[in-house]
Amino acid sequence: MNKALRKAIIAGNWKMNKNRKEAAELIEALKPIAADKTCGVVICVPFTNLETALNLTEGTNIEVGAENVHFEKSGAFTGEISADMLTEMGVKYVIIGHSERRQYFGETDATVCKRTMAALEAGMTVILCVGETLEERELGITEEIVAKQVKVALSKACEKCVKNVVIAYEPVWAIGTGKTATADQAEEVCAFIRKTVAGMFGQDVADGMTIQYGGSMNEKNCAELLAKENIDGGLIGGASLVAEKFGVLLEEASK
Ligand code: PEP
Repeated sequence: MNKALRKAIIAGNWKMNKNRKEAAELIEALKPIAADKTCGVVICVPFTNLETALNLTEGTNIEVGAENVHFEKSGAFTGEISADMLTEMGVKYVIIGHSERRQYFGETDATVCKRTMAALEAGMTVILCVGETLEERELGITEEIVAKQVKVALSKACEKCVKNVVIAYEPVWAIGTGKTATADQAEEVCAFIRKTVAGMFGQDVADGMTIQYGGSMNEKNCAELLAKENIDGGLIGGASLVAEKFGVLLEEASK
């Protein structure tokens, strides 16, 4: 399938940044920048900013996402937020399995699978993050690690609902470090992810899936990465916090 037929999505991951006033300022700055772009535009914001983001993006081409979701529908899970709570607000996207959650909050492939199913069942689009650590890359087991992450996360998904999954390949060693994977390294793993998805759900599903790269992607290096056949956009941390920088990524992904 031709890359041009897939939906390129640039998604910002604000992480634990921006209070409500700062969030509103950033969104207001983003709106005119995003307005004429043809790629998908998503901002994944802290829970405290969801309401602000939903209100301010109403009627625009900017979609709003959360940065995590719990797998149960409701109950005694202090501090957690369910998929139904998010969809009731109007939140459409959710990041699941980000490496920071795997590293600091005990996220495992099994819990990523449970969260993914809860979000899909609620009708959300999941941005599923996978990627190897530096040690795993140096051991030559990148493909093994990434295949396992994809296979476990999507083990319970059906062919129909997997169409609401975007996979973000994010090498852990490139996130927030200023070290980007080379365009060839990123392309190689994104192509491998597509092959893995094809093995699970068939070539058509794999060909239609948006597979992003994430890891220190910015206004300077995005053109080379986004030009690659298997890279359909990006999950962007640092550069999503500055409207002008995010705008360059949107521009490039809309070409
Ligand atoms: C991320 O948080 O998903 C990310 C890719 O961060 P950064 O762009 O800052 O490396």
